[in-house]
Formats: sequence, structure tokens, C-alpha cells
Amino acid sequence: MKTVDPLDRLDSLAAHPGWAKQGRQPRIAIVGAGMSGIAAVVKLRRAGYTDLTVYEKADRVGGTWRENQYPGLSCDVPSYWYSFTFAPNPDWSHRYSYGPEIQAYMEKTARGFGVTDLVRFDTAVADLRYEAPRWRLTTEHGDEEVYDLVVSATGVLHHPLLPEIEGLDSFEGAMFHSARWDDDVALEGRRVGVIGTGSTAAQIVGEIGAKVGRLSVFQRTPHWMAPFPQKAYSPRWKRFARTFPIVLKALYHFYYYLMATRIGGAVLGDERAHAKLAEACRKNLEQNVPDPALREKLTPDYAAACKRLVICSDYYPAICADNAELVTDAIERIEPGGVRTKDGRLHELDVLVLATGFDPTRFILPIRVTGEGGADLEKRWDGAPRAHRAMSVPGFPNLWMIEGPTGPVGNLSLITISEYQIDYLIRCLDEMKARGLEAMAPREESFAAYNAEIREGLQSTIWVRGGCNSWYLDKTGLPNLYPFSPARFRKEMRKPDFSEYRLIEEV
Ligand code: NAP
Repeated sequence: MKTVDPLDRLDSLAAHPGWAKQGRQPRIAIVGAGMSGIAAVVKLRRAGYTDLTVYEKADRVGGTWRENQYPGLSCDVPSYWYSFTFAPNPDWSHRYSYGPEIQAYMEKTARGFGVTDLVRFDTAVADLRYEAPRWRLTTEHGDEEVYDLVVSATGVLHHPLLPEIEGLDSFEGAMFHSARWDDDVALEGRRVGVIGTGSTAAQIVGEIGAKVGRLSVFQRTPHWMAPFPQKAYSPRWKRFARTFPIVLKALYHFYYYLMATRIGGAVLGDERAHAKLAEACRKNLEQNVPDPALREKLTPDYAAACKRLVICSDYYPAICADNAELVTDAIERIEPGGVRTKDGRLHELDVLVLATGFDPTRFILPIRVTGEGGADLEKRWDGAPRAHRAMSVPGFPNLWMIEGPTGPVGNLSLITISEYQIDYLIRCLDEMKARGLEAMAPREESFAAYNAEIREGLQSTIWVRGGCNSWYLDKTGLPNLYPFSPARFRKEMRKPDFSEYRLIEEV
């Protein structure tokens, strides 16, 4: 006799127990085929969870590395650390990888581990509705599916933020956001403007400076910049790394330790580490910007690494070049011919690049997410997203976020953080299976206590004490970040405390 899979009968879901009670595989939807979506598939499968479907709004895997294709794109986290633990790569060409090489690594890993076959490309998820104990998922094409679990792997920074400047649409030259780079627009010999001076702008300016006719960089606030100690790996070294994979493992941990102590320590309250970092930034500025007037304009009035530290060696030489101008007068408006600053000057431009960052408060949104009792996630967050252990929200059972709110972001390898979170999720799934649970969601009181601890911890960080405004801060004025060491995060992720959760045996 043919048994009817209850998940195929969308109208009678409530009558059927959850996956763990039925003793079957959980049906899992993963939203996003970027770095954390790829890692989720590989690790869940290895742990025995094989009924996986990945929804991807674009036509390729890769997430941020697919979306960002601007000139000079590189990763300021060392390559051997910015790697999946399950896919060490002896072929990295440089100590810090360039964007296309990382994108190729993402695609190769996804293909090699069979992730690509599970992805529904060009399929954005529009709606997620909890119908206990499952989730009804609706795509933007109107297709519906039902899943036992939803894993959001939608990334942190993927909604380009356009500046609110009068007349933006009136510009008659070519204009695009850094994450929507238009390769058809020639830059050679032309008058190019860049708005912004963050990590993205620094890389773009460093790369295009020598090619363009005239470069105008519109700076609202200067950023501290540390040197970028780039280095190419020789074929001999790569052969060595391939022959002795233990070397890759050792280097993963070496760079992890180095970044976590030098930059991590500096932002999290280690005064000595911060003084060293601040000194390195100051020296970098002094040694690379000989003109005292320009140097003064480039000197921030807040502590180093208060805004995310920019690690770049090409920006200062590019901005010092004869064809470049650092514009520090505030922008009045955009006009058809260029950018008008408050001093009345029109900076005439052919191309305008908006390196103005991303909306960091969206996470899984704009997907409409409706939890228990019709709770709306966007309303619950109200511009200040929070999660329990950066992964789940009370009232939204069986919805897990990788790289969710208040996670360890900053100058870290987010691949490592994602992997910790996926391991945590697997431990939770194993527990659900062992106990025959229908669903689990954090308790309100655990969520509140956890976030109170985060708030408290943030007070000693440079993000709060450093005296700057940054994309880390949400509408509460506090950074949406994890304020403790990655080692502590790792420890917390290793052993879920199930008393923090509502373990739902029957819905
Ligand atoms: P960002 O750090 O948010 O910088 C945006 C820049 O645009 C800032 O300089 C900001 O000025 C300026 N800006 C925004 N609105 C403006 C306006 N209306 N008028 C004038 N200026 C305006 O964005 P991002 O550079 O794209 O970097 C975002 C994050 O992406 C980084 O912090 C990092 O986490 C990540 N990223 C990483 C790498 C890497 O190598 N791993 C590379 C690139 C990006 P204010 O400072 O005054 O706000």
C-alpha cells in the first residue's frame, strides 16, 4: 500500500506529528547558497540529515562573493583561515584572496560536495509561515512547500544602502552601488567619483586610482586603516601545502589566533592590543601620506577599529596621487553633471560609485516570516534585530539562522563562525531526534537574559567606547554584535543548554 507523505498534504498538517516522532528524516529548507548555505549542506549531510533543499534568489552560489564584483575586491581575512574546515585549499594564490578566486572556491566546493544539485536557483523565498510543527514556505513564484525546519543562511550584508542625497536620480553619467558594479562602464581616463571611505571604497579607490582620469573621493568620516600585508604564494609552496595538508590546518589555526588576538583582542577590551593596533594605523597614515594637510583630513577623531577596521595598503597612495582629490566638504546634492558640495562647488563626473554600504538590520528579511500566533518577525525586530545565541527567536520554533543578529562579526572569518553555528544546530537536531520532539524555540526569559548579557558585554568594547558611528550600531544605539571572544562563542556553540529552550513534545 502506498503511504501518503503527510508533508504533501498541505491542508492537514496539524493532524500529523513532527519528523522526530515519526522517526523519519527532517525535511529542511536552507535559504541562501552563499558560504553558510554551502557549509550547512555539507555538515548536515555528514551528520546524517539528507533531506535538504536550498533556495537561492540568484543563478549561482557564492553569496557576497557573487554579488560583489567591484575592481580590487579582496578578503582582508587570510585565505587559509577564510576556508571551510572540510575543504582546505592548498591552491590559494595569495595570503589574502581576491574576490574572483574566492567565488571560484565557493563554486568548486559546492560542486565537489554535491551542494549545487540541491539548489533551486532563481527562486527567492517570499514568505515563511509557521503551521505547528512545520513551516510553509512560499517562493516569489507562488510555489508552496512544507518543511520541518528552516535554516536561514541569507548573510549579514546583502541589501545595498543607497545614500539619501537629494537629486541622486538626476545624475546623467553612469552611477551604481559597489555591489552592483557595471563592467560595461569604462573608467579609463574618465572623471570618477566615489562616495564612501569604508572597506569597499578603500579597495575600489586603491585599484582604479591609477586608471581613471580624475578621481574624487567624497569622505564623510575618515576610517582608520591598517596595512594589508599581501603576499603571493609560489608554486613550490603550493606543492608543499598540497603534499602536507597538516600545514593548511596549522595555518588555519595560526591565522585564527593571530586575528582573534590582534584585532579581536583590540576591540574587545585588551588595552595593550588596542594601543598596538592604533599605533600601526597611525604609522600607516604617517608613512604613506606625506602631505600634512591631507593627513589631517584622513585622521579619524575616534579610536581605531571603532568602525570596522579597514585593512588596505593601496588607498593612501591612490588618494595622494596627482589625479585624486579627497573631498571633505559635505555633499549638498547630486546634479546631472556631478556632485555639488556645501561649499558651492560642482565636482563634475562621468561615473559615480556609491560605496555607501549595506542595510545591516535585515538578515532574513524582506522574507515575510510569521511565527506562533501570527507573530511577525519584522515587527518583533522593529529595526533592532535580536536572536538567542545569534540563531533563533522565541515564538519562531524550528527556524534557525546562520550569521543571525548579534553574532561574532567584524574582522573575523565568518566561515568559521558559520561552521560553529551549524554544529550547534546539528546538536539540537540530534536532541530533537533522541527525545522525539515536535519543535524547539528559545524561551523568552533565556532570550532576554542572553541579550542582557550581550548588552552588558558590549559596554567594554571599542565599538561602544571608541566614539564613532558605524554600521554596527542599530536603532538602539548599540552594536549588533557579539562582544566576547570567538573562543567563548565556540565553547557556547559546542554544548547547547536545552533548558534555554521550549522543547515542544506535542503541538
Ligand atoms: P561601510 O563600511 O558601511 O561604509 C560606507 C561608507 O559610505 C562610509 O564611509 C559612510 O560614511 C559612507 N556614506 C554612507 N552614506 C553616505 C552619505 N549619505 N553621504 C556620504 N557618505 C556616506 O560599507 P562598506 O565599505 O561597503 O563595508 C561594509 C562592510 O562590508 C565592511 O565593514 C566589512 O564588514 C564588509 N567588507 C569586507 C571586506 C573584506 O575584505 N573582508 C571588504 C569590503 C567590505 P560614514 O563613515 O560617515 O558613515
